[in-house]
Amino acid sequence: MPAPRFEQLHSQTGPFFLALGGAGMFGANFYLFGSAGQWIAVDCGFALQSREAGGNQVSVPSLAALERHDITLSALLITHGHEDHIGAIPHLWQALKCPIYASPFAARLIRNKLDPAIEWPRLIEIKPLQPIGIGAFQAEWIPVTHSIPESHGILLEVAGKRLYHSGDWKLDAQPLVGELTAQSRLQAIGRSGVDVIIGDSTNAPVAGASRSEQWVQNGLLDAIRRCSKRVVVTCFASNLARLHSLAEIAFDTGRYSSLLGRSLLTMHSAGRAHQYLHGHPGFIGPWELGFLPREQQLWVCTGSQGEPAAALARLANGSHPHLSLEAGDCVLFSSRLIPGNEAALERIKAGLKQQGIEVIDDEMAPIHASGHPPQEDLRQLYGWLKAKYLLPVHGELYHQQAHRDFARSLGMGGLVPNNGDLIDLSGQPAKIAELPWGLVEIKR
Ligand SMILES: [Zn+2]
Ligand SMILES: [Zn+2]
Repeated sequence: MPAPRFEQLHSQTGPFFLALGGAGMFGANFYLFGSAGQWIAVDCGFALQSREAGGNQVSVPSLAALERHDITLSALLITHGHEDHIGAIPHLWQALKCPIYASPFAARLIRNKLDPAIEWPRLIEIKPLQPIGIGAFQAEWIPVTHSIPESHGILLEVAGKRLYHSGDWKLDAQPLVGELTAQSRLQAIGRSGVDVIIGDSTNAPVAGASRSEQWVQNGLLDAIRRCSKRVVVTCFASNLARLHSLAEIAFDTGRYSSLLGRSLLTMHSAGRAHQYLHGHPGFIGPWELGFLPREQQLWVCTGSQGEPAAALARLANGSHPHLSLEAGDCVLFSSRLIPGNEAALERIKAGLKQQGIEVIDDEMAPIHASGHPPQEDLRQLYGWLKAKYLLPVHGELYHQQAHRDFARSLGMGGLVPNNGDLIDLSGQPAKIAELPWGLVEIKR
């Protein structure tokens, strides 16, 4: 069968969906929506792949499909500020030549990545629940809970269809920092009808419901109470709720706390600037904390994935300039291992244990919760939205298929998209063409 000519297809109203990253993989989320020759994109992230020689390779989506078919974007819409959703912007914004719409906090994180010495993209700060028109599209950002403040699903209305792009999300009634999921708005959207959900597949194979940040705070408090000497906690820098909890726990257990690692300091100052970390007891400088007795010290550090240059790896091999750990100290991994980092992390844990340091991870104590929806969360949201179809993204094929199967059990149709598949959403989603896609490695 000869391939349909894309030039003929894309002048039709569709609407069309095209993943150029994020489908069949974790990272490099970059999703295009088109109608009558107009295109917008949702998210523009990078992918991290572990190198055999150690360390990570950073890759961004290839724009070959846009160049070959003369697709120009009217806008780039950002769901939230995680690197797998914004990390490619510094590398691609000049080629995309379109305004970027993001929440104020995500916009700050994007600005932090850009070089002010060169001309900046147009960054437009959105207000949640206030629809805006972008050519043939109408877009509304819907607050959802996740593991960073200001996470959103985006409702797109185009060519008479209503598409809900979920972004990354979970259901958490006690997120501790940031807004609650806008349940009543999502239910109202469902009452007026949703055609297609483009949805987060990360935890679709997992039964049960999400664990709350409040549950993590309680688990961390119990675990830290049992530590008699110095405490070190490593977590993702962007999880401001976790930072908030650790500052409170330090206060409640008679400790002072300090942040080690550049990304934690950057995220902490962004959080304070946007009023997300006000009212907690705060962190002190590492030089001050180092002078206090061991049993009064709580350090929060970067490096939960074993990154060799991050604070934790340097603590494990005794090369950190501000802190040396000693036998009897305790290191807590308030994080989940990202596949590919096993060997690096095992080396760090072994190095710590050799020094007589206790290591506690999320399999030994309830000290971490995922930011993505397991099946009971999916059932709830999809019950509110009552969509006809699902396109599972944000996951490898295994996660996408589990997501599709679960959605089928809820009565939804749909298909599993690959990167590069052009999917017609005018009726039942159908693949109508294959466009080039790939990842481009970034040297840094
Ligand atoms: Zn993500
Ligand atoms: Zn995320």
